[in-house]
Amino acid sequence: MQKYEKFSTRLVQSLGNKEGAVSPEIVNSAAFAYGTPEIAEGIFSGSINKALYARMGNPTSAQLERVLAAMDGGVGAIATSSGMAATALATLSLLRSGDEIISIGGLFGGTYSFFKETLSRFGVRTHFFDVDALDEIAAAVTARTKIIFLESVGNPNMRLPDIPAIAAIANEEKVALIVDNTITPISIAPLDFGADIVVYSTTKIISGNAAALGGCVVFRAVEEHDKFRGDRYREVHQFIDKMGKTALIANAKKRAMRDFGMSANAQASYLTMLGMETLPLRMERVVKSTQMVALKLYEEGLHVNHPSIPSHPHHIRYIKYFSGGCGTLMSIDFGTKERAFEFLQRSKLVTITANIGDSRTLALHMASTIYRDFNEEERAFLGITDGLVRISIGLENPEDIIADFLEAAQ
Ligand SMILES: *Cc1c(COP(=O)(O)O)cnc(C)c1O
Repeated sequence: MQKYEKFSTRLVQSLGNKEGAVSPEIVNSAAFAYGTPEIAEGIFSGSINKALYARMGNPTSAQLERVLAAMDGGVGAIATSSGMAATALATLSLLRSGDEIISIGGLFGGTYSFFKETLSRFGVRTHFFDVDALDEIAAAVTARTKIIFLESVGNPNMRLPDIPAIAAIANEEKVALIVDNTITPISIAPLDFGADIVVYSTTKIISGNAAALGGCVVFRAVEEHDKFRGDRYREVHQFIDKMGKTALIANAKKRAMRDFGMSANAQASYLTMLGMETLPLRMERVVKSTQMVALKLYEEGLHVNHPSIPSHPHHIRYIKYFSGGCGTLMSIDFGTKERAFEFLQRSKLVTITANIGDSRTLALHMASTIYRDFNEEERAFLGITDGLVRISIGLENPEDIIADFLEAAQ
């Protein structure tokens, strides 16, 4: 469990200040004064790195950005108002009408709707594939493909993509790979495996207690011989010429943040950083509990879906790539909606909500809530069965969780 140890030192050390206020400082101002016209000009041209206006970033969120970028090994990051805002920022900054997206696995309901309904209204088409359809994925790349998008753990289908294999396709075809890594870099570091941009919902386990909605996008550095220098990304070239390594950040700020305004606010960034301090500690506990609960319920005959269970189709991949676990999620299929509702009514421990990654154990019946507007074919693709309950394991004693679940499932 070396991963947790590495992050525990780095996180607490980078979140507190050694001089002055120890806790991160909240800068609430929406506007920032420049002092002189020369400095104003420098800030707007990018030659002076100071706060411009809160829509373009603020000092409190900048600290969060530095810490998350460092965790992921990125060149920089942009904090956003939510996880969906992070996905919107990362994708919209690269897209124009007529482009195509290849979306793999998962998929979080909001992301699915964003690709399928919203982006298609603006002329961007998305092709959806299972994580193991590698040949089909490679064959689907066209001159119009701008983004390959995947979730590091399918929410809620718990399928695990082979990220290095998919990154190899993206790099071969010179297409940007964006990974939704809401399970955090403690579980897997997509940039190390060849991804270009990583998006987070910090609302989940990074904050850890439903105190703050937020998101973040982490970017890798643009290199000498880079796919972003290719014809596919002509709009980005002006930023590469001007900013070099940090071109993707400048591109995202100018082509998405400035005009859509999905910026993080200082209060949310502060609360997110408070949560982050204890992330490695919470993660270690929750991963252990999740594996323990999943195995016990499986042995008791419940239809549990979690890759730590040896019969899971991606169990080998789980052991190979997810040595730090794959977050807080598992699912249980109760067969019918009635039986799923009975479980949720009888459990004294679960909080019924759409969130995940909380200190408390959370649960939700999928088909009647998040996926209620999806048709049968879409639900089948995303693994949403009638009796499916998604569980997010919390910090309670795992023995208490097991006892409560077995009682409620009787
Ligand atoms: C929650 C979630 C999102 C969206 O994040 P919000 O902060 O709710 O906007 C995106 N991806 C995954 C995997 C999520 O769990």
